[in-house]
Formats: sequence, C-alpha cells, structure tokens
Amino acid sequence: MNRTSLRQATGPISFLAMLIACWFVAGLIADRMVRQELDATLRTEHQMSSSIVDNMAEVIASDLAMSRSIPGTMAEMGLIQHALTQSQDYAVSGATTETALRTALVGRTDLTAVNSFLRDAQGFSGLDTIWLVNANGICIASSNSDSEHTFVGRDMRTRHYISQVLLGAFAENYGVGRETGEPGIFIAAPVYDDGMLVGAVVAKVGIARLRHWVAHAGTFVADDKGVVIMAHNSALEGRALPDAAVLKMSPTDRMSTYKRSDFPTLQIHSANEDEHRQAPWIPASLWSQLVTTPHLNTPAMYQERIGLNSGLSAHLVDPVAAWPDLLANHRRDRLLVFLTMAGVVGLAWVISVSWARERRHHRATRDLADQLTSANALLSAEARHDALTGALSRRYFLDLLKREIDQARANGEPLCMAIADLDHFKQINDRFGHAIGDRALEHFVESCRAELRASDAIGRLGGEEFGILLPSTKLSAGHEAVERLRMRVKTLQSTKLPASTGLSVSIGITELNADDLPERLMSRADQALYAAKSGGRDRTEAVPPDDSAPTARTAAALT
Ligand code: GH3
Ligand code: MG
Ligand code: MG
Repeated sequence: MNRTSLRQATGPISFLAMLIACWFVAGLIADRMVRQELDATLRTEHQMSSSIVDNMAEVIASDLAMSRSIPGTMAEMGLIQHALTQSQDYAVSGATTETALRTALVGRTDLTAVNSFLRDAQGFSGLDTIWLVNANGICIASSNSDSEHTFVGRDMRTRHYISQVLLGAFAENYGVGRETGEPGIFIAAPVYDDGMLVGAVVAKVGIARLRHWVAHAGTFVADDKGVVIMAHNSALEGRALPDAAVLKMSPTDRMSTYKRSDFPTLQIHSANEDEHRQAPWIPASLWSQLVTTPHLNTPAMYQERIGLNSGLSAHLVDPVAAWPDLLANHRRDRLLVFLTMAGVVGLAWVISVSWARERRHHRATRDLADQLTSANALLSAEARHDALTGALSRRYFLDLLKREIDQARANGEPLCMAIADLDHFKQINDRFGHAIGDRALEHFVESCRAELRASDAIGRLGGEEFGILLPSTKLSAGHEAVERLRMRVKTLQSTKLPASTGLSVSIGITELNADDLPERLMSRADQALYAAKSGGRDRTEAVPPDDSAPTARTAAALT
C-alpha cells in the first residue's frame, strides 16, 4: 500500500475516531454543566422542602397545643371534678349492662348540666367530641350524650389513651373511633379532686379538621407507630412507613387502634440501579439526597420531622420538578457541545488537509519550475552550441564576435580572428565514411581546446570550417598559437581515427584594426585562409590589420 492510498484509508478512520473522542468529551462537559445545574436545583429544593416541613411541624404543634389546652383546662374545673367524684360508683359489673348504665347516667339530673357544658365546650373549641371518664373507665358524660352513638355508659378501659390517663398521666394518641369509625387524635387529661384521681377529660380532634396540615402536595403525617394518618395524596393513608412499629404489633392491637390489620408499606427508598443508569452522570453524593417512590415518575427530595406532639411526624416527598428538563438539558448540552467541537475539529481538519494539499501542490509546482529551468538551460545551451562538436554555434559565434570587437575597442586591447578549414575533408568522408568524418570534426575542436586558452572562443561556421577568436592577442602571438594548433592537429592524431587519415588543417588569421567592422575582420581572416589553401594547404597564413577589402563570400556569410 503506497503513501497516498494509506492516507486515503486512514483519513476517514482517524476522522471517525476524532468524532468519537468529541462525543466522549462532550459527554464529560455536559455531565459537568448539568451536574452544577442539578446541584443548584437540589439546594433550592432542599431549602424549600425544609421550610415546608418545618412550617408543617409548627402548625401541628400549635394545633395540638390548642386542642390539648381544652381538656387540660377543663380538668381543673370544679364542675368536672365534682361530677366525676359523684360518679365514682359507676362501674361495669356482671349485673349491669351497658344500655342500663347509659340509661341511668343519661337520666341523672346532676349530669344534665355537665353534658350540656361539654356540648357547649365542644361547639366553641372546634373539637369533635369531649367526654368524661370516671376512675373505672366508664364514660359518665359526653358532648354527644343526646346522640344514639353516645359514649355515655361505655366501658373505655381498653383504649390505650384511657388506660394511660387512668394511671394519672396526660395521654394523647391517634386512633380510629370505635363508634364513629372516624380517625382522630385522642387527648386525655387526668382529673384530680382533693389529690385523688377521679377520672379524665377526653377530647377527640377528627383528622378531617386537621387536613390543612397536609395542604402542600407531597406532604403526609405519620403517627408514633409509623402509620400514615393523613396525606395530601389520600392513596397513601393507612400505609406504614418502612420498618414502622405497627408492623410489629399484634393483629388484635392493630384492630383496636386502627380498625384494620393490613398496612401496606410505603415504598420510599434510595435510588436503585435502574435509576442510576437513567442518569449515570449524577454523582453518588447527589443521588444520596434523592429518593424514589412507585407513585412518582421522577426522583424526589425526602424530608421528615419526627418526635412532634402526640408522637406525630411530618413528612414531605417533593418530586424534583426540574428532573425531566435536566435530563433533556443533558442531552441538548451534550449535542451542542459535540456539534461545536466537531465543527472546530472539522474546520481544523479541513484547514490542515488544505494546507497539506497546498504544500504538495507547491512542491509539485516548484519541481516543475525547476524542470522547466533546467530544460530551458539545456535548450539555450543547445542553441549556443553545435550538437556534434560542442563548439559555439554559428549564430552565437557571430554575436560573440561583435561583442568581443566592442570590448576590445572599449579596453583598447588587440583581438585576433582566425578561420580554420580541414583539408580535403571530402576525401576523408569518402574514404572512411561520414562517421569517421564526424570524429575528425570532434577531434579538431578537442585539439583547439587543448592548445588554445580557455578565454579563446571556437565556433563552427559551417561544415568543416571553424572560426577562432583570440581576445587580448596581437597578430604575432595569435599566429604562433594557430600554428601550434595546426601542428597539433597534424601530429597528434586521434585514436578514434584510422592511422591513415592524415588529418591536416589550413588556417588564416588576422588582427582587428581601429575601424574594422565584423565583416571586414572576418573577410581578412578568410583572405588569409584562402592564401593558406592556395599555398598548398596544411599551413597558417596571417593578413595584417590594414590589408584589403572584404570578399563577397565573407560578407554573405555574416548575414
Ligand atoms: P579543401 O581542402 O579545398 O577544403 O577541400 P575539401 O574537400 O575539404 O572541401 P569541400 O568544400 O570540397 O568539401 C567539404 C566537405 O565536408 C563536403 C561535406 O560533405 C563535408 N562535410 C560538411 N559537413 C560535414 C559534417 O558535419 N560531417 C561530415 N562527416 N562531413 C561534412
Ligand atoms: Mg570548406
Ligand atoms: Mg576543406
């Protein structure tokens, strides 16, 4: 797999991995954001629910204190004490039935005023019933004495609060009325006469009168046995708190107090595994403040105030109203954070990919430009040089000739020009073939390079004819140089040429004069060459600078 296809294959995978990482990090950030929101919500809800429960506890305490004060005050009254003292003899015996007892008591004229007083007291106190029980546990007078369900004549000893008050102590507890079936709180104050316990004043406050205790949603009140005696949601009434004492009572005791024996447990428990899974981002410290109950869809805050009057306790299960919003916020925050991060990462990705691509293009363009430059350099080198021998091309040589003339004049220096023509070259081609002719041409140029200075220029004027420029050279020195060249060509034969080639060259040389044109200079060199050829070839001839006019051949050659 090459680099490009590897990059193509790993690109989408690493992008996907980055998106997964973004999703994970977005989850952590959303967790944090919503956790703070939840923390603040719980703090507020805790304050609110605390004040609700505290307020409820206060109302219960003051209501009960009021209710309790009435039997307490009545127990101090002479009328009550006297009536109870007078009724000491009434007791349940085998001979006396409850009905006979009631008839006797209701018929007693001295109790008529007491019954009437109790009725009035019940009327203005807002209590449900007020009655008197003598030291034998018999109800002797009652605010409901004229009702067919009157307590008068009843033996009340089996009631818990009666047995307690007849021991001389103030008693108070919740129960369901045996006659009425109505639940209420029974308050019993002992009555003493001359230091003797003569009975008790008992009052019942019906639960119906106290419903304002649970006016707030989620509130309920439990009694000292852990039974929910009233609740805002009436479906909870009659249930037992977890581990309530009522669950350990005997069925008979349950029946006598509550007129029922079945107490389904109220399910209030800390969040379980399922609920944790619903919002795993909530830390245990926050979960521990929450409870769940089957009758609520959301977790709730639970508050209780125990040990109130009459052993009552106030409770509040306050659902976290913002819970569905918090869950939705968590999802929304996570999505928003994810989209933002993915956008940033995507942008960074696009920028880095574009940058890398740009770099690649830049490199490719630079390489192309380099190639173009070297191709141009090659082309221009080819344009300047003869492909076979490497000597300067004719055009370039003639340009150079003009520049060298200008420079020589500007510097006041001499300049020699020579034209060399290989002798009988046609015969060499004919005898040894064109390829050997080519080697001979190469050999001549190599000989020039070996014999002449680096500053001297050699140009191929055409076929086997070469121009030679010798800057800063007087004619005498130039003549000597080209003579050395001629000798070298003749004596140092190339190994690439047959021994019998017999290569030789004729050279004509001249020097630039003050008003020479390039044509004239070349013409004189040509003239000198002509002299060498006509003189028998394989020789050098020099024409001085001031000699003769250009020939037609040279003038044409310079165009
Ligand atoms: P002279 O001594 O009078 O100069 O006689 P010559 O034979 O050298 O002169 P001529 O002008 O009669 O012939 C020149 C020959 O050079 C003719 C041509 O075929 C040959 N020639 C020109 N260019 C090339 C080339 O590039 N390679 C080869 N092998 N031969 C060439
Ligand atoms: Mg020739
Ligand atoms: Mg020739």
